[in-house]
Amino acid sequence: MDKRFPLADQISMLGSMIRGRVITPSAPDYEALRLVAMAQFDDRRPLAIVRVANPADVATALNFAQASDLPLAIRAGGHSTGGYGVADGGLVIDLRDLNAIDVDAANRTVWAGAGATAGDVTRAIEQHGLIVGFGDSGDVGIAGLTLGGGIGYFARSFGLTIDSLLAVEIVTASGDILIADAANHPDLFWAVRGGGGNFGVVTRLQYRLHSLPEFVGGPLVLPPVPEVIAGFARLAAEAPEELTTIAMLMPLPPAPFIPAEAQGQLAFVAMMAFAGPLDAANKALAPFRALATPLADLVGPAPASSLYMLDPPPEARGMASVRSRFTGNFGLDDARAMVNAARACTAPMSMSQIRVLGGAAGRVPGDATAFAHRNSRFMVSFLAMYGGGPDIVEAQERWVSDSVAAVAPVSNGVYVNFLGNGEARGVASAYPADTLARLRDIKRRYDPANLFRLNTNILPA
Ligand SMILES: Cc1cc2nc3c(=O)[nH]c(=O)nc-3n(C[C@H](O)[C@H](O)[C@H](O)COP(=O)(O)OP(=O)(O)OC[C@H]3O[C@@H](n4cnc5c(N)ncnc54)[C@H](O)[C@@H]3O)c2cc1C
Repeated sequence: MDKRFPLADQISMLGSMIRGRVITPSAPDYEALRLVAMAQFDDRRPLAIVRVANPADVATALNFAQASDLPLAIRAGGHSTGGYGVADGGLVIDLRDLNAIDVDAANRTVWAGAGATAGDVTRAIEQHGLIVGFGDSGDVGIAGLTLGGGIGYFARSFGLTIDSLLAVEIVTASGDILIADAANHPDLFWAVRGGGGNFGVVTRLQYRLHSLPEFVGGPLVLPPVPEVIAGFARLAAEAPEELTTIAMLMPLPPAPFIPAEAQGQLAFVAMMAFAGPLDAANKALAPFRALATPLADLVGPAPASSLYMLDPPPEARGMASVRSRFTGNFGLDDARAMVNAARACTAPMSMSQIRVLGGAAGRVPGDATAFAHRNSRFMVSFLAMYGGGPDIVEAQERWVSDSVAAVAPVSNGVYVNFLGNGEARGVASAYPADTLARLRDIKRRYDPANLFRLNTNILPA
């Protein structure tokens, strides 16, 4: 970069140096492309969005970011709860065009571009009777999700997303394009499995796929009663490992499968995911169905991608507040606190969520990856979605933070991908001290100047 020229000229020169495109505020699609999933970050206006076409473009953009000293954001699926996918007055490396999905069904692997979403990859592999678990939303980017760990519908059956990660292609701060896997740069491979976007820009991810010839899943909607919720959590923790659940107290959405008179009413919507045949699923599901007369039971043979049914339509885009904690217990008192919290929420949509962990995710040793919360049995999360001004944001931030403290007063740490916007505890709550020390050491080797700092930032040792 030649600093004799004005910054605007340098940005336009960057455009001529890459295969992809540089989008500046005067471009007709700038306003749409700068937006991320959550509307509270809509006031952030990057100087340029670098829509990269290959890893070499990423290396060129990184070189430019370092020379210009502009704030740098990395954007894949745009669903960061901290708004890290957009930098006000800075540069955004936008990976959405790196979305190729290359399935090797015979060897049960897939290489997927970092711009692909969970829904894109799930739909591409399930037609081969194969699966890799992502999260509960098809719109979330595989890259951001995987780099934090990936806790979803197959956590108990096949582990976290990182437990199926075989390799990443990554562009480091120095512009090197590396493959990191168990044999090559194993320290870097360890760090990207939970350490987030601190170590480089991942351009492709390779996953081991699991055989899923039969799958049974869908929502079991139960009454929002503390005894039912506590019973559910106990059963889910004791269930066969083929069964993973993500259950939430929420107002019933205006979905076609919900009767009009029930829409907006609070209910316990338990998303059930059984990785196996129908008869075994029905056996495992029987005690859950016996907890109370279901308000709706839509659990049956289905494609795994159908579990993304709760994704909001694009027109429902709004602001969101989130808080989350790992916890060792979830009993009747916790269920009562959760029901009280859900009833007190003033946002038009909220989710008070319980994820039951263990199974394959729990068997991986705590130091095998940078995600160290392997012993936690539960993760509770509160999410409020709303529109409005700063007073509303403040009220909803208070709701999520009071709710999580009431339900899980003793925290076993926080999932890095669910850290709320502005949550002060940051890295110290996301990583135990020995994990953090190891991450900081690896950061020092791969990003000593902390180029990648718009994230849950790990400082170089
Ligand atoms: C509605 C919703 C549902 C969710 N559900 C789940 C869930 O069920 N399970 C779960 O585990 N998580 C879940 N999450 C959290 C989600 O995993 C994180 O927010 C994740 O960071 C989003 O990734 P992204 O690529 O969409 O976001 P982005 O905003 O594009 O990226 C987030 C950050 O990750 C880093 N990053 C992303 N891509 C790269 C890359 N290629 N190279 C280097 N760094 C990168 C960067 O720091 C970036 O700023 C959910 C989030 C939302 C909003």
